[in-house]
Amino acid sequence: TETVLRAENVSVYYGDFLALKGIYIDIPKNNVTAFIGPSGCGKSTLLRCYNRLNDLIPIFRLEGLISYHDCNLYGKEIDPVQVRRRIGMVFQRPNPFPKTIYDNIAFGAKINGYKGDMDELVERSLRQAALWDEVKDKLQQSGLAISGGQQQRLCIARAVALQPDVVLMDEPCSALDPISTLKVEELIHELKKQYTIVIVTHNMQQASRVADYTAFFNVIPTDEGNRQGYLVEYN
Ligand code: ADP
Ligand code: ADP
Repeated sequence: TETVLRAENVSVYYGDFLALKGIYIDIPKNNVTAFIGPSGCGKSTLLRCYNRLNDLIPIFRLEGLISYHDCNLYGKEIDPVQVRRRIGMVFQRPNPFPKTIYDNIAFGAKINGYKGDMDELVERSLRQAALWDEVKDKLQQSGLAISGGQQQRLCIARAVALQPDVVLMDEPCSALDPISTLKVEELIHELKKQYTIVIVTHNMQQASRVADYTAFFNVIPTDEGNRQGYLVEYN
């Protein structure tokens, strides 16, 4: 299968601290890849390299190459805002905008220049996130007034509204109850037909339920008393 994102000898520093060392990993198109490993091994760090979210951290420094469809993601001509349009993200804690359910989809779409039929976009996105039936009669209610699991699916709807290439998920279920977790996992199975998905998880059972490929990370203490993350195995 086609590789969407490729890391070649990637190391990440926060200041002098080497958080992640010498990573090689290919993310295959229309599959689910899980990153698993103990806290602090650099899973979120690598995930955030893929949509240049780490750029916002002044002491962040990347060595090596991350390419997106064979294009250097950190090349001079690359606009991080455009990258984040193609590579969406869902966070651990559901973070809907403090706006109506409708505007949670419409607001971001407008900012990104969407000129099509907004009602259609809202419905399509909420359907894709398996949320439409539950919220179609309360689109004007606050996105914060629904359950945590529904909020997370709203965030997924928002992430896929403009049909990105890739959806990154950073422990998307760890703040959810078991039933909501299963719903999101089912949704991930549906979404991979259209999107390439990378999911960070602490949970081995979840990785085996949702992932086609699993990258196992670990962390070792260094001589300087730091903890350095590395990739153990990928299959
Ligand atoms: P994981 O997602 O596997 O728990 P992280 O990628 O969050 O690991 O963190 C990897 C290491 O990098 C940890 O030691 C963490 O403390 C450190 N780290 C993460 N973000 C920052 C930051 N903004 N500044 C300094 N260190 C950070
Ligand atoms: P997560 O819950 O995703 O594992 P954390 O709770 O480890 O995230 O970290 C939350 C935020 O704090 C992240 O934005 C991360 O970059 C930042 N962070 C983590 N470790 C450090 C650190 N040692 N110094 C500064 N910021 C950090």
